Amino acid sequence: MAYRAAFRCIAGCPGEHPLDQPLYRCPTCGDLLEVAHDLAALKDRSSASWMKLFDDRYKRTVWPYGSAVWGKKEWVAPHVRDDQVVSMDEGGTNLLWADRFGRELGLGELWVKQCGNSHTGSFKDLGMTVLVSIVRQMATDGKKVRAVACASTGDTSASLAAYCAAAGLRAIVLLPRGKVTTAQLVQPIANGAVVLALDTDFDGCMTIVQRLAAEEGVYLANSMNSLRLEGQKTVAIEIVQQFDWQVPDVVIIPGGNLGNVSALGAGFDMMEALGLTTKRPRIVVAQAARANPLYLAYQNNWEFHPVKAQATLASAIQIGNPVSINKAIRTLKKYNGVVEQATESELADAAARADRTGMFNCPHTGVALAALIKLVDKKLIDPRERVVVISTANGLKFTDFKVKYHDRALEGVPAPYANRPVELPNDYDAVRRAIDAAV
Ligand SMILES: *Cc1c(COP(=O)(O)O)cnc(C)c1O
Ligand SMILES: [Zn+2]
Repeated sequence: MAYRAAFRCIAGCPGEHPLDQPLYRCPTCGDLLEVAHDLAALKDRSSASWMKLFDDRYKRTVWPYGSAVWGKKEWVAPHVRDDQVVSMDEGGTNLLWADRFGRELGLGELWVKQCGNSHTGSFKDLGMTVLVSIVRQMATDGKKVRAVACASTGDTSASLAAYCAAAGLRAIVLLPRGKVTTAQLVQPIANGAVVLALDTDFDGCMTIVQRLAAEEGVYLANSMNSLRLEGQKTVAIEIVQQFDWQVPDVVIIPGGNLGNVSALGAGFDMMEALGLTTKRPRIVVAQAARANPLYLAYQNNWEFHPVKAQATLASAIQIGNPVSINKAIRTLKKYNGVVEQATESELADAAARADRTGMFNCPHTGVALAALIKLVDKKLIDPRERVVVISTANGLKFTDFKVKYHDRALEGVPAPYANRPVELPNDYDAVRRAIDAAV
């Protein structure tokens, strides 16, 4: 099995660079890198045989292939030795058939891919397992790795801290002070990371961490490091696998730094290139209206200008200058892409309304659900289409958002779906009266 993969410049500069050297941008032109796989080598197996291999490994216990990321190892990071993998059983999350919510919207088939049901509660684990495994192998092979660092809106840092702790590597996380939730802050603290809360926003943290990577020899774990996207792309493969290798019609994903929409495209690209699929889904990126540079670019013939992101409940996507903008636009052009935005009350109401059908949505999933509702209204999604919404984090990380919604305490959000607890004395008749009033 001589499968190989290497970094390549997305702008097309010649040359390839090994994955086990710290490299985040093209040394020639400074644009982003991507991981290119030797597809000719991967064609030694037929498409049917790849599908069977992935199905045979799915959620089993043979290390490390039971992880749904490492079950596709040959397509992800073939050079990582099995004993160097740092895995906490990523992927394999439930694809929830949102029957009742879908019917409320008049849709025939709505599915929610629950990526937040993961080790650290967000889909960032899919990519972090790959990055940290590669760094661990570099350290094992004698490369000096002082620490691994990231700037984060909360979920990347939680994931980095957990995987580094499992590997015995030092993690440094830079967070915008007061802009992540309590759960997101305590996760890297609990895992023993160096937690730096900076008086700036995510974009400010990103600037500093890039300098740390360049000047202090710390390894950069942000998604401009394209190793992470190799793990994130497995979500596309896994969704298709869960539909018995059928491609859905529409996939909706919330976007901030925009690495993940590019990863989604990369997953679909690879399945097509290796003959597993012939159809392409339409990809929809959903942005918060208060942090919407991609939406503005979409409205303006893909001409991009960074914005200053405003505070939004969807804090993980409060990003005004997305690192992966060029990759994202390339993906959206290829996948008949649409970008929709959601205001604060649209995202909060969409999350709460879907919660009423049994879900427990984080605000970013709320952005995606709000975009879905708007695109159905605009007739840009056909009721006969099979639609998948990617839920990116677990709602339990965002209890403050939920409590405040139901308390009608979110500014500018009237909260029509609020459900208040009824406070009562210790009295049977009072309880009965409250129930009679309610049902
Ligand atoms: C990181 C993240 C996103 C956005 O992913 P990008 O690759 O930055 O666009 C969306 N939702 C949640 C919960 C996240 O943590
Ligand atoms: Zn280049």
